[in-house]
Amino acid sequence: MPYSGAFWIAPKSVQGKLALVPVLAPVYKKAFAGSPWFEVSRCGCPHGFSAQTVGERCTGACGQMITQEAYPLPELISDLSGRLQSRRSFVYTEMDADGHPFMGVIAYRRHGIDIYREKYEGRENPLAETLFTRMPQEVAWLDEIFADLERRPNGNLRNFGRICTLMAEQLDCRVISFRTINERLIGKARSVFGDACTEYRIRDRGALSGVSSLLVIDLEPVTADLGREQTLAIR
Ligand SMILES: [Zn+2]
Repeated sequence: MPYSGAFWIAPKSVQGKLALVPVLAPVYKKAFAGSPWFEVSRCGCPHGFSAQTVGERCTGACGQMITQEAYPLPELISDLSGRLQSRRSFVYTEMDADGHPFMGVIAYRRHGIDIYREKYEGRENPLAETLFTRMPQEVAWLDEIFADLERRPNGNLRNFGRICTLMAEQLDCRVISFRTINERLIGKARSVFGDACTEYRIRDRGALSGVSSLLVIDLEPVTADLGREQTLAIR
């Protein structure tokens, strides 16, 4: 899908952000059902999210029939809306002229220790705890970045540097951080931010490979190379 005709929005008002939630939720659900996450269903047992479909017998410890799809839309919309309302947040999307999104980003301004508690609740992970506790201040936590690869198979990370600087500005944080298993995202962050970007590998039960990366990008001094990024129209 070409970039021509695409535009971006990063609403500043809570209402503007909330209005995007029902638009972005189906893209989110579809994206995380695909590579490299394969979160198609969710079993209530520790097996959790998997590529299995609803109605199959769980290959985890419980062996029960899986009854719940991953991210049912009403629940997802309610979760995302609740978080957007209760936190200082950043929402970004690139859409076509008809308002159909290609991709979305959701980020929050948060303390490292709060992120740790949310992401690792009930799972003791000393390295993660140390890393998140050591974060010097509140960070711009890039919680979700997702794209509809059927609508636009390539180029969804094209403006990643610009998105990050906009996020840092709106959340008034010079340190950006995120956790991911997406190698393309890690590569893009490194190519844009170079030495400002530090990567830690964390053992992570939630990741298919058992390992995820924690990226910390310190934007001061700003070292982003945005030269190759294309400016889109703001709607
Ligand atoms: Zn199970």
